[in-house]
Amino acid sequence: METEQRERSWAEPYKIKMVEPVRMISREERQKAIEEAGYNTFLLRSRDVYIDLLTDSGTSAMSDRQWAGMMMGDEAYAGSENFYHLEDAIHDYYGYEHVVPTHQGRGAEHIISQLMINEGDFIPGNMYFTTTKLHQELAGGTFVDVIIDEAHDPENEHPFKANVDLNKLEDLIKEKGADRIPYVSIATSVNMAGGQPISMANLKEVRALTNEYGIPIIHDMTRVAENAYFIKQREEEYADTSIRDIVYEICSLTDGATMSAKKDALVNVGGFLALNDEELFREAQNMVVVYEGLHTYGGMSGRDMEALAIGITESVDEDHIRARVGQVQYLGNKLIEMDVPVVRPIGSHGVFLNAKKILPQLTQDQLPAQSLAAALYVDSGVRSMERGVVSAGRNPETGEHNYPELELVRLTIPRRAYTQAHMDVVAESVEAVYQNRESVSGLAFDYEPEYLRFFQSQFKKV
Ligand SMILES: *Cc1c(COP(=O)(O)O)cnc(C)c1O
Repeated sequence: METEQRERSWAEPYKIKMVEPVRMISREERQKAIEEAGYNTFLLRSRDVYIDLLTDSGTSAMSDRQWAGMMMGDEAYAGSENFYHLEDAIHDYYGYEHVVPTHQGRGAEHIISQLMINEGDFIPGNMYFTTTKLHQELAGGTFVDVIIDEAHDPENEHPFKANVDLNKLEDLIKEKGADRIPYVSIATSVNMAGGQPISMANLKEVRALTNEYGIPIIHDMTRVAENAYFIKQREEEYADTSIRDIVYEICSLTDGATMSAKKDALVNVGGFLALNDEELFREAQNMVVVYEGLHTYGGMSGRDMEALAIGITESVDEDHIRARVGQVQYLGNKLIEMDVPVVRPIGSHGVFLNAKKILPQLTQDQLPAQSLAAALYVDSGVRSMERGVVSAGRNPETGEHNYPELELVRLTIPRRAYTQAHMDVVAESVEAVYQNRESVSGLAFDYEPEYLRFFQSQFKKV
């Protein structure tokens, strides 16, 4: 069946009803734009970008059905009809008992962290995410990475690089005591590992182990449908199970979830906290009115909630998810054929270029990934993002740069926004930059803010 699919072309499972023009400015203009942005792609104006692969967050195209739903927004302050639609969708597709809407993912992370974490607690997880970890720390906890070692090696082809190392998890529980671990934080399709999945078998083992110690699992379900797709492809017993059923089963193995609906759920803004525990839900419902909004909107408008309720149903559609992850795989495989060094296996939401390997002439102090992202923009107007020494920040004690093992440029694909032809243009541009890699020079900090420096730093050529 695999080979049959490869012999025949297939196309995006949608046709285009409305277009947003994009333009490619001249090379001279791009050169000027990136200089003015201090060689930081976050500081470019979107109008100067041709193909925008900065992030997949809130950048998806909504469907005609979602736009129709927007017109059905019930903008009542309390008890909006759209909230009940959203609640029904979450029950039907994810199975969680209770829903607290939030303005986006980090709103849910804030509430769950404040409610469950006490000063001095430890929160094990399958690799950190920036906002998740920060909220755990702000609540007095310490994040502990219990992902398998393979996740840190860009060339390791493990099919489930987001799996939990059960020995690491059990050692931590024994060392700290189960009462110091409020929950285990499990992400599906782990962003920082390159969009890599956790297997159902591993999740079941994590469930069994945490049950032994009475520890809940809180699920970061931001990319759960993409993870389900990889389970269907790679875990034999799920080959004939629907994406919808796999997603439901994943959720059933956990006790609650935080969701950034800006990713898999196909909306431009939104999120929620879902919980099975009634008492915890009551506390969360009380807290949401302090920080987000009333418990039947939590920072979203009625029309946003309607679009989200519909987006949830579309996110598990078989054709949709095959095309979504398929488009990422298409770009990744093209780059592999071109011999460009990328993180393997290709992940679910983006392709990660190995800048350390592409630009060996640069030391890490000369910021290879930042330099590569700038060079790619100048070549074709494609915007990507640095994930290397700039993103890793400084050690607060010594003031020195943190030097991460991975020095990457992320090409993140928005959902349903671009076509295969756009992917061809991106691949050709990456190849062109790769062929001229010896001419790419390094960068040095010109301005460096104190927090999350990758967003606002400016650089100069060295
Ligand atoms: C984006 C993201 C978040 C945070 O969600 P926001 O909607 O940006 O606040 C949390 N976890 C993961 C894995 C994410 O990708």
